Amino acid sequence: MKEEHDKREIALKRSVELKDRIKDYLDLKDTIPRGMSSKQEENIFQKKQKILYLLNASENDWNDWKWQMKNRISSIELLSNIIKLTDSEINSIKKVEKQFRWGISPYYVSLIDDDPYNPVKLQAVPSMLELNTEGCSDPMAEEYTNPAGVITRRYPDRLIVNTTNVCPSYCRHCQRRRNIGIKDSHAKNDLLKESVEYIRNNPEIRDVLITGGDSLTMSDSKLDWLLGEIHSIPTVEYIRIGTRVLVTMPQRITDNLLQILKKYTPIYINTQFNHPLEITREAKAACDRLADIGVVLGNQSVLLNGINNDKYVMRLLNQELLKCRVRPYYLFHAKHVAGTLHFNTSIDEGIEVMEYLRGYTSGLAIPTYIVNSPEGNGKTPILPQYILSRGKDYVKLRTWEGKIIDYPNHCIKNLKEY
Ligand code: SF4
Repeated sequence: MKEEHDKREIALKRSVELKDRIKDYLDLKDTIPRGMSSKQEENIFQKKQKILYLLNASENDWNDWKWQMKNRISSIELLSNIIKLTDSEINSIKKVEKQFRWGISPYYVSLIDDDPYNPVKLQAVPSMLELNTEGCSDPMAEEYTNPAGVITRRYPDRLIVNTTNVCPSYCRHCQRRRNIGIKDSHAKNDLLKESVEYIRNNPEIRDVLITGGDSLTMSDSKLDWLLGEIHSIPTVEYIRIGTRVLVTMPQRITDNLLQILKKYTPIYINTQFNHPLEITREAKAACDRLADIGVVLGNQSVLLNGINNDKYVMRLLNQELLKCRVRPYYLFHAKHVAGTLHFNTSIDEGIEVMEYLRGYTSGLAIPTYIVNSPEGNGKTPILPQYILSRGKDYVKLRTWEGKIIDYPNHCIKNLKEY
C-alpha cells in the first residue's frame, strides 16, 4: 500500500514539473493570430464582402477556383481599396513590380487584416527589401538536373515533373521565383509526354512528384491525363503532388478534382502552411475533403523571418495542422534566393525552434528541419545536438529536458549465440 502511494506521489510531482514546462506556451498561445479565431473570421468576412463588391461578383464566383484565378489581384489601386497600405508601401510595390511579378488570389487577400506585419501580407505583398541584389536565382542548381522534358532529377529513385509556372498567389519568399515568369504558362504537352517517357524508360523511379509553380492550377482534364499516364507505369509506386492551393485557394478542391484523384491512389499531397493564420475554416474543409478520399496530406513549411521563426508560432502551427489531418513533414531553411533574403533566418534560429518541439509536443507534430545543400547536393537534416559523445561502449545523450545520460552502445549478445 505504502509502495503504491509513493509511486503515485512521484507521478504527481512529475506531472507538476511537466505542466510547468509548457506554462510559457499556454500563457502565450492565445495571443498568436489564428485563422479560425472569431476576430479573424470577422475580418475574413468583411474583406470578402468588400472584394465581392469591388469586383461585382457573387458568392458562387468566390467559390469557383477559376474565378479566383482570373481575378488574382495585381493592381495597386484595387489592393489599396481592400487592405491598409501606407504611401511608402504603395511606392515599394510600384518599384518592385517592375522587376518581380506579384498577384494574390482574392481568397488569400481576405486573410490580411490591419496588422502591418500580418503574416499573410508579408508573404503576399511585395516589399522594397526584394530589391536587395544579393543571393542567386538558382541556389540548388536545378537547371543542371533536367535530363528530359520538364523533369528535375536529384535522387536515385524519385524525380520531379515541373508542370507549370502558374500559382494562385505569388509568394514573396518563393524559392523558385526565377521560373515565375511575366506570363502564365503551363508545360507544353510534348514536354510532358517526354517526361512520362523518361519515367517509363527508367524503372528505378518509384516516386514521382508533380509540382510547379502550383500543379493544381492545371485544368482537370490535363491533370487527369498526366496522373493517368504516370499511374499506368508499373514501376511507379505512388504519386506526390506539390501544391499551395490549400493555403491560397482552397476552392480548387472540387468534387470533380476529388473524383480524378481517387482514380490514382496512392496519392500524397504536400502543401505549405507557414502560419496558423492560414488555417481557416475553408482551408480545413479542403484538407478534410482530401483526407476523406484517402489522400495523405503533409506540410512543408519554410522557416521565414518575422513570420514563423518563433518557437511558439511553430508549435501552434504544427498542432493545428494535425487537427486538419495534415502531418508536418519538412521545415525548410530558406535558401539564398535573390529577392528573398529578408526572409532568411540563421540556422541557430531553426535549431532553437526544433529544440522546443521535441518533448514539448507529440512526435507527430514535429517536422524534419532541412537545409537544402547548395549546388543540388540534396537535403541535409538538421537536429539540435542530442548525441554529446560516442564511445565504444556508451553514447552520451542529452534528453529533451537537458538531462545527460549514458546509453549502452553495444548488443548484449549476438542473437546467434543464444
Ligand atoms: S505557390 Fe509555391 S511555386 Fe508558387 S509562388 Fe508560392 S512558393 Fe513559389
